[in-house]
Amino acid sequence: MDVRASILSEVHGPWHTETIEIDDPHPYEVRVKMAYSGMCHSDLHLQTGALSQAPVALEMISGRPTMFPIIGGHEGSGVVEAVGDGVTSVKVGDHVATSFIPSCGKCEYCVSGRPYICDMAAGTLAGPMISDGTWRHHLGDTNVNRMCNLGTFADYIVVHEASVIRVEPWYDLRAAALLSCGISTGFGAAVSRGGVKPGDVVAVIGCGGLGSAAIQGALHAGARAVVAIDTNQSKIDRAMKIGATHGSTTTLEAAFTILPDLTWGKNCDVVIITVGEATSEIIEQARSITAKGGVVVAAGLAAWDQTSVELNLFMFSMMNQELRGTVFGSEAPRIQIPRLLRLHNEGKFMIDELVTQEYSLDEVQKGYDDLASGENIRGVIRF
Ligand SMILES: [Zn+2]
Ligand SMILES: [Zn+2]
Repeated sequence: MDVRASILSEVHGPWHTETIEIDDPHPYEVRVKMAYSGMCHSDLHLQTGALSQAPVALEMISGRPTMFPIIGGHEGSGVVEAVGDGVTSVKVGDHVATSFIPSCGKCEYCVSGRPYICDMAAGTLAGPMISDGTWRHHLGDTNVNRMCNLGTFADYIVVHEASVIRVEPWYDLRAAALLSCGISTGFGAAVSRGGVKPGDVVAVIGCGGLGSAAIQGALHAGARAVVAIDTNQSKIDRAMKIGATHGSTTTLEAAFTILPDLTWGKNCDVVIITVGEATSEIIEQARSITAKGGVVVAAGLAAWDQTSVELNLFMFSMMNQELRGTVFGSEAPRIQIPRLLRLHNEGKFMIDELVTQEYSLDEVQKGYDDLASGENIRGVIRF
């Protein structure tokens, strides 16, 4: 069938809407009519070239050294419209959130309770279907890749059933779309990977979608204080509205004006990095406001080829500190998305407050211009 999709044809190219052809779902695949798609910072990384795999890996997985052309989007929600043979986890009419990390339920990581690092995610940036390595999406004669095996910037998507999470039909599909990546990641970065405990002091560096969820996660876990750090004052103001107790425009300022009194010089038990583009310097900045025995969680994406990290290794060892990476907040998508949706439904978790603007499919470029200029916490495409 013909569907409209927002596509990138090259690095630094603009998002543009095209009519593409999608095939019917093959075995273990489903077609979803999209309701909402979140506009996560990671798709901006795709546009700038910061998010990629090495060309040699792309060639190995998909037979071509580039990810382009590619349908953007990896946060989404919608209704299952068709299922292929063998699909057992959802049926036609089910409401679903997409998951940028598939949950196959069979690999070593899934069966050991860590589906956020499921083996099926290995080719997530390469493009072809994870079911059989062929393509369902075509622009003329060209096969089209999809961001994170999803490509949610489209009226309809065809994806593997492992990439969708069934949610109860009474839950808000816009909230489900936002929970499908950034919001769950931020929440889990604090609660699960950071291991925030009652009475902890937490700092969150970067107060966009991810950071706003990390702040709420820290509070749910019992933090006595949460310091919101962002260079953009309007994002700090928003963070204070959702529960941050202190705000600062730089880590240095927080170190000298907030933390000495707040922690009696001890510094933060947990520091969570949720900036849109993680840099080398930010690791040491975060470490420098972390307590002895404290934890730094790196949740914000850096460029795929960044290999250097600024870190005072002497202090890192002598202060017995830890640096932990996280994907999807180190939580199982099939558990975390329905769980946080329920919290949202009961008024205990703010998501609507993070949506600053809704866009149409044709306005994806405008949405990312707004994100880059700092105007957006989270933009959402409504289909
Ligand atoms: Zn994302
Ligand atoms: Zn798996």
